[in-house]
Amino acid sequence: MMTQNLKNEYLQAMGVQRWLVRTDGEDAVTDGMQVPANDIAEPVARDWAGLQQQVSGCKKCKLHETRTQTVFGVGNQQADWLIIGEAPGAEEDRQGEPFVGAAGKLLDEMLFAAGFGRSEVYIANILKCRPPGNRNPEVEEVACCNAYLQQQIALMQPQLILAVGGVAAHNLLRTDEKVGQMRGTLHHYGETNIPLVVTYHPAYLLRSPLEKRKVWDDLQFAQAVHKRLRAE
Ligand code: URA
Ligand code: SF4
Repeated sequence: MMTQNLKNEYLQAMGVQRWLVRTDGEDAVTDGMQVPANDIAEPVARDWAGLQQQVSGCKKCKLHETRTQTVFGVGNQQADWLIIGEAPGAEEDRQGEPFVGAAGKLLDEMLFAAGFGRSEVYIANILKCRPPGNRNPEVEEVACCNAYLQQQIALMQPQLILAVGGVAAHNLLRTDEKVGQMRGTLHHYGETNIPLVVTYHPAYLLRSPLEKRKVWDDLQFAQAVHKRLRAE
């Protein structure tokens, strides 16, 4: 049996974020997952090409069994903005690119309306493989996949992260607050404190089009933050 401390050390070495669960005002740390021994042996690749190749062959969680292909990320790796979604859907799994289905088209439109082209952003997901039937990612899957996204963030060093949807926001900020409560405030990601703005997922907007106005506001807010940071 591995001690909790040793386990935490391994997890840290792997770049896996631990989950902070608040219980009765006390902070308890739980990693909420099992780490197969062979994962510990494989360090995360240090450059984009190596990382992408590593992800494309990854079998760390069961999603590798049902995917058509991995969906690594797309866009400008030198961009200031990093947009993080949840996981590939059917169309993304088919094409190997994030946000190319109906939700992605809406995201594109909103980015365009807010003055961005796809070349000014990089887009990735919490999970690189599609959960069957688009079910929510499981904690263990996120834990397995997390090191890749962390490395993408470390390589890119974005000036601002836009978390789209609850799954992205919850995993990046390690909270379970509702998106509606998280939007409109500036958050910060990880130890590097990268400014992070939360907004609704475009799939939600497809179901509730009246909320588009709020995402528009969130994009304006994010742009104002970005401008202020650049001026500093
Ligand atoms: N939804 C996501 O969160 N990501 C995608 O890539 C596609 C749909
Ligand atoms: Fe690997 Fe992530 Fe795909 Fe799981 S979801 S198999 S951890 S790339």
